[in-house]
Amino acid sequence: MREVLLVRFGEVHLKGQNRPYFLKTLTENVRRAVKPLGGQVWLADSRIYVAGVEDMRACGERVRRVFGVYSVSPAWELPKEFDVIAAKCVEMMRPLSGSFKVFARRSDKHFPMNSMEIATEIGGRVLEDNSKLHVDVHHPEHRLNVEIRDHAYVCVEEWKAVGGMPMGTGGKAALLLSGGIDSPVAGYQLMKRGVTTCAIHFQSPPYTGELALDKVLQLAKILGEYENGMRVYLVPFTKVQTEIHEKCPEGLGTLITRRFMMRIAERLARKFGALALITGESLGQVASQTMEAITCTDAVVGMPVFRPLIGMDKLEITEIAEKIGTYETSILPYEDCCTVFTPRHPVTKPKLDTMPDAERKLDIEALVAEAVENTRVEIV
Ligand code: ATP
Ligand code: MG
Repeated sequence: MREVLLVRFGEVHLKGQNRPYFLKTLTENVRRAVKPLGGQVWLADSRIYVAGVEDMRACGERVRRVFGVYSVSPAWELPKEFDVIAAKCVEMMRPLSGSFKVFARRSDKHFPMNSMEIATEIGGRVLEDNSKLHVDVHHPEHRLNVEIRDHAYVCVEEWKAVGGMPMGTGGKAALLLSGGIDSPVAGYQLMKRGVTTCAIHFQSPPYTGELALDKVLQLAKILGEYENGMRVYLVPFTKVQTEIHEKCPEGLGTLITRRFMMRIAERLARKFGALALITGESLGQVASQTMEAITCTDAVVGMPVFRPLIGMDKLEITEIAEKIGTYETSILPYEDCCTVFTPRHPVTKPKLDTMPDAERKLDIEALVAEAVENTRVEIV
């Protein structure tokens, strides 16, 4: 008899022919997550198990944060002898009160009792032992799971996990990471779908300072905890912004700035093997996030731009930021390059066909190439 962590996965089940690949990746990711606690991790019978760790709760906390994991349960692994299983169930249910239901599942058809018989008999023994419990088959407060597989497994607690897809199975993308609330959340949403993510940050010294940079690196570090660390590409952006300020119509300044961010980000993404860009834009939030403005920014990019927050309100975004642990850092009051040279009256309905004229005084290729050339990387 020993304690194990039972790890359930959701959508990975759906993956047809790729299923073995998804499961192997997920098992590896769980293994990496629990490594500091020691113990063994293995995949058997459509389940991942962890055993040999001292602190199951701490282990559960780690595994809950692995993308692709749907829920985890601390469970007892027992020999397939009915009396031993029933005795453990009785003991586990002893401290509880309220309603319960036994969920029995027999994958080993050699076991002499069927699922219904197991559930009925164990339910009876639990009731006999604990008068503070009663059965509710529709809405039980406690779910006592009994599974007969290669061993017997019993558990009552189930902790919900992050869900999503295993990290590394969704391709690679570059996140445009500012110091704000939105972009870290946008990155998280795609990381959750299995996307390996690197970050690109534009800085405009001396208008943006060291503290602003530290803040962005801190955000990347928090996000990186869901993956395996993160690379942050730091793009010197002062020259681009200064030229835009001097040579372009003021009302289009922010929009043109965003077009340059996209051009440079795409160039870097291709260089480092990412297939898409991610931004934290949300429709209508600011002048550069209207449909017309997004049309103008998208027009300069030749790869998909994912905007997972496009239909979300600030309040919903903030909730996620709090949940994933980036909010407190995001609200630190340091300037972003977007607040440098902000136009007083930004155009909210820009026309795509006016953009070439608005940018005609700039040497676009030279500016992009120089920024890419001088980009440096930090690994957090
Ligand atoms: P956020 O809260 O993410 O800063 P925002 O609501 O402030 O977003 P904008 O400032 O218009 O909106 O930026 C829109 C998106 O452009 C951001 O979500 C981010 O993806 C990207 N972005 C803005 N500033 C930077 C920057 N300095 N470096 C990298 N990406 C940036
Ligand atoms: Mg911002």
